[in-house]
Parts: sequence; C-alpha cells; structure tokens
Amino acid sequence: MTFDDDFTLTIGGKSVSTRAYVPVLNPATEEAFAKAPAADAGTLDAAVTAARAAFPGWRDTALKERRRLLLALADAIEQNSDDFGRLFTREQGRPIKLAVREIVTGANWLRSVASQDLPIDLVEDSEARRVEVHHVPLGVVAAIVPWNFPFLLAIWKIAPALLTGNTVVLKPSPYTPLCALKLGELSRQILPPGVFNVLSGDDALGPLMSSHKGFAKISFTGSTATGKRVMAAAANDLKRITLELGGNDAAIVLADADPEVVADAMFAGAFFNTAQVCIATKRLYIHNDIYDAVRDRLHALAEQAIVGDGSRDDVTHGPVQNLAQFRRVQSLIADAESTGLTLLRGSRVPEGAGYFLPLTIVDNPPEDSAVVQEEAFGPILPLMRFTDVDEVIARANDCDYGLAGSVWSRDIARALDVAKRMDTGSIWINQNRQVAAHVPFSGFKQSGFGVENGRQGLLEFTQTKAIYIPK
Ligand code: NAD
Repeated sequence: MTFDDDFTLTIGGKSVSTRAYVPVLNPATEEAFAKAPAADAGTLDAAVTAARAAFPGWRDTALKERRRLLLALADAIEQNSDDFGRLFTREQGRPIKLAVREIVTGANWLRSVASQDLPIDLVEDSEARRVEVHHVPLGVVAAIVPWNFPFLLAIWKIAPALLTGNTVVLKPSPYTPLCALKLGELSRQILPPGVFNVLSGDDALGPLMSSHKGFAKISFTGSTATGKRVMAAAANDLKRITLELGGNDAAIVLADADPEVVADAMFAGAFFNTAQVCIATKRLYIHNDIYDAVRDRLHALAEQAIVGDGSRDDVTHGPVQNLAQFRRVQSLIADAESTGLTLLRGSRVPEGAGYFLPLTIVDNPPEDSAVVQEEAFGPILPLMRFTDVDEVIARANDCDYGLAGSVWSRDIARALDVAKRMDTGSIWINQNRQVAAHVPFSGFKQSGFGVENGRQGLLEFTQTKAIYIPK
C-alpha cells in the first residue's frame, strides 16, 4: 500500500470515490494538504448494505479465524507505522515520534483485544436441564470517533466489534479522516469484503449515521453535547449505544506527596497532545503546604516545552488541532485575563500560521471561574490550593463529568481512601492516563454511558442469549 495523496472510502472491500470532498488542513500550517471523500446519504446506504451482507458470514466465522485476521491486520498496521505516523502528524498536529507511538499502540491494542475470549456461560447444570448464556454479535456497528486520538480510539471500537462477530462502518472526524481512510485501504487485503467499511464526510454524516436504521449499535466517542444527540437519535429504534464523552478530570495532591515527582508526572498528564485528551488532568488541586513548589516546577517545565510543527524532531507539543478548538481555548484565556486571574505562560510559540498556544497555568483561580468549570480541551491548566481533604473531594466531585482522576500521596492507603470517594470511572494513584485493553473504561454522570475495553467492553458488542436445554 502507498501513502500517496489519494484517499478513498472503503465499502464492500473496494475503493470508492465521491464527487464531493472535504479539505483536510494541517493545523501547524493551516494549509489544506489533502482531500477526503465526502460520503452522502446514498454512500452511507451502500456501506450499510455491504456491512449487512457481510454480517452472516463473519458472524459464522470461527472466533479463531476472526482472531487470526485481526492479528494480521495488527501486523500490517505496525509494518506501516512510520507512514501512518507522518500522515497522523500532518492531519492531527502531534509530534512525529508520539504520532508513530499512537499507531504502534493501536496495533498492540488490536492484538490484545484479539487475544480475548467470550466463552459461553453455563449458569445452570441441574438434573432437569442445562442453561447456557451465549454472547452473540449484534449486526452492523457504527463506530464514530473524534479528532484527538483518531487512530487509537478507532481501534478501541473496531477491535472488539469485529472480534465478537459484528461488521463495522467507521466514521472518523472531518478534521482527521486520513489515517482511518488508509486503515480501510490496508484492511482490503486482509478482511473479507464488507466486514470493515470506512466513510469520511462533512458534518452531515454523523447525524445521518446515528439515525440510520441499518445499524444495530452506535459506539461513539466525542463531546457530551454530541453524545446526547446520538442517544436521542438512537432511541427511535432502540439501537444499542456506548458513549465515551467529555471529562473535567481532577487530580488531588495531598500534603505528603513529593512536589517534584508530582509536577513531572502532572506536566505529562495535563499537557500531552497539547492537552487535547479526554482523561487529561484539567483541574489540579494541590495541598497548600506544597502548592508553591508544584506550581513553580510546573511553570518551569512549561517554559522548557517546545511548541511548534510536529514534523520537527525537537518539538514536544504540537498545535491545537482545529480552528474551533483554538478559538475556544483562546476565549478561556481571554476570560481568565479579563477577570484578573494570574496566568503563568510557557515558552513562546511560533508566529504566523498554525493554531499554536503557549502551555499556560492559571494560579489558584476561584472554583467558579470558567477555566475550572469548563472542559478546556486545550493547554490551559488551573491549579487550586486546598487544606481540607473532605472539602476538596467534594469540590472535585461537584461536577457534571466523572471520567477519570488521580490522587497523589506517599501513603498509598490514604490515597486509596480518597480514590474510593471520587466519582470517576477510572482513578489512578501516583500516576495518570493509564488505560489497557483488558481494563474496563467508563464514565460517571455525563462523561459516558456504557463501558469500553475489558470483558464488559466486549459484552457491549453482543446480545445476551439464554438457551434452555432439557436433559
Ligand atoms: P464531537 O462530539 O464534536 O465529534 C465527535 C464525532 O462525532 C466526530 O466524528 C463528529 O463528526 C461526529 N458527530 C458530530 N455530530 C454527530 C451526530 N449528531 N451524530 C453522530 N456523530 C456526530 O467531539 P470532538 O470535538 O471531535 O472531540 C472532542 C470531545 O471528545 C471532547 O469533549 C473529549 O473529552 C471527548 N473525548 C472523549 C473520550 C472518551 O473516551 N471519553 C475520548 C476522546 C475524546
């Protein structure tokens, strides 16, 4: 396969072009460097038809064979990881080494999911009967992903959906469609036609998918606002849904934590991918005793960061991915400035084209300020002082979101006590941003609905079916 500038849809195992296109911009240069096909309602119908036609054959393919094909796909991804990485940097903005790492992580994630099993559960084996619970695939799955992790989050959906015997139509974000389109192209040589289809399009395509009757399930990752629209559209025909949505993750740093260790880990945890991570720390509560030490070290690290075009080897943080997000973060910065908050800015950023922003720390803003209350999803991190642990847990939990969080202390038992009291789907002690294919990932409150990853994640792509067998 070549990574030329020819991007096509994958439908029924074939390359499909469209008359209309969506320009794809490099966020570091603001130049349109590629054209992605714009699928319309007719193209979507064709993809769903192809996926439905492929479903019975794929469902009835032995799990062992489905696994073998997914492992072959993982190998092909890894063999092309440098080309995928270069394309990723151009469309997403992330520095090249980290872009390649997302691709390799995607290949390994696929391997890890493919190694899982979903055996029949024997829930009764009495004199009279045997009752078996089977987990059967649902049908055609719509996999809808955002622009911040365009490759890995696609794999989070494709891998369990395909392993369990469903067929898939993948829709990447209009901002970052290219790696997904190339993944579709790569899959044509490996998977049976129609098992995995990839459609790019403009803003109209997502709503068309969430209301399309041909899908049995929508697995969606994106903002909470869009997630609610997906849920409403899916209600019409009771499609199954999994929603992985926004977060405003809190970290709580207790007085006995090592300020340097915390600041180093927190810098990575908050600013990785230019802070465009659903599970990034977005509110950092630090005990008053070590607040100054953590703040000063974080500020020093922000000053050392090199923000710029991710295709340069020395760059540590790329641009914000798109103009809308850039403006959103700019408006949060402007709000913080106009309300008199103290901003500690990181290194200078390139002038001219590109959605670049300095990594910025906000020094102890009030709890009700916009930068604390809203999911910034960009490089602005509020640090808040606290003295009372009960009070800070209440502040951390007083939020519509509940995706993830972290607790920092030399005393693990004490940290565990705090962790148990935080209303989040994942919580880390003395670390952050940990996820794994065998560990369930979910959100409290408006951070999500359902579970991805782990056995529960596999189950969400299946229908439970009880079979009563007399003896
Ligand atoms: P978004 O909600 O704008 O878009 C996500 C995807 O949904 C895109 O592919 C988009 O084209 C599509 N879409 C838009 N309207 C749709 C509709 N009505 N029906 C179906 N699909 C539709 O989100 P975004 O700006 O791309 O991503 C950023 C958001 O994603 C942040 O809030 C972030 O926290 C969240 N996110 C969550 C997780 C998680 O696992 N919880 C992971 C990454 C990102």
